[in-house]
Amino acid sequence: QLSKRLATVGAFVPSGARIADIGSDHAYLPAHLALKKQISYAVAGEVVRGPYENAHHEIQKLALSELVHPRLADGLAAIEPDDHIDTITIAGMGGPLIRQILTQGPAQLVGVKRLILQPNVGAATVREWLSQNGFELVDERILAEDGHTYEILVADRATTPVTYSPAETLFGPFLLAEKSPVFIAKWQHELARAQQAVQQMQQAKVEPTAHLAAAQAKITLIKGVLEDAG
Ligand code: SAM
Repeated sequence: QLSKRLATVGAFVPSGARIADIGSDHAYLPAHLALKKQISYAVAGEVVRGPYENAHHEIQKLALSELVHPRLADGLAAIEPDDHIDTITIAGMGGPLIRQILTQGPAQLVGVKRLILQPNVGAATVREWLSQNGFELVDERILAEDGHTYEILVADRATTPVTYSPAETLFGPFLLAEKSPVFIAKWQHELARAQQAVQQMQQAKVEPTAHLAAAQAKITLIKGVLEDAG
């Protein structure tokens, strides 16, 4: 049984896809999709030996060795040309790390049509990378599970270049249009955090910094969205 978070990532994997799940740990996601016959091939990439061995073990236990291939490699280096990967999933790490992984592998991205990304934090930096690298968001989800809030970004190759406004980059264009209760709760919490950070910077009487200005700009954006939501 997959977590709601991973099941939502999996729901956006096209039927018959050849996927690379980067940072796969136990390979739960590709194993689940292979068992459901939703994918025709998978690479489960891991940079750390322990999780790589977990993946190897899980795949053997489920007799999926023909379909799911564990690889010990850093980021997209797990992908080989003969894999003909068309879909990449990266879940359960920070946005900056997801962005770094995507940046390091332009050759491995060539045949890729869809990216499904689940940053634990820092989704904005991932959206920025997508729009700067020829991808466009086609859907987004936000969900709460076990006391955490998760965002899932689904992007395809852009037919025409896309740019996102500062609000769309921060909140996500689809999530912003929807303004679900989970979304509102997340940004109420983020607003309180940003306000506290500004207060601390002001109390410390440091010279106004770029950091302070960024926090203030974020507060203005969040207040705008929360007011709109009533
Ligand atoms: N994707 C699974 C999920 O969402 O449940 C596992 C998430 S786990 C918290 C993050 C995994 O990413 C860890 O097992 C870690 O070793 C792996 N990882 C971190 N940086 C990586 C990189 N550059 N390349 C491959 N795997 C990486």
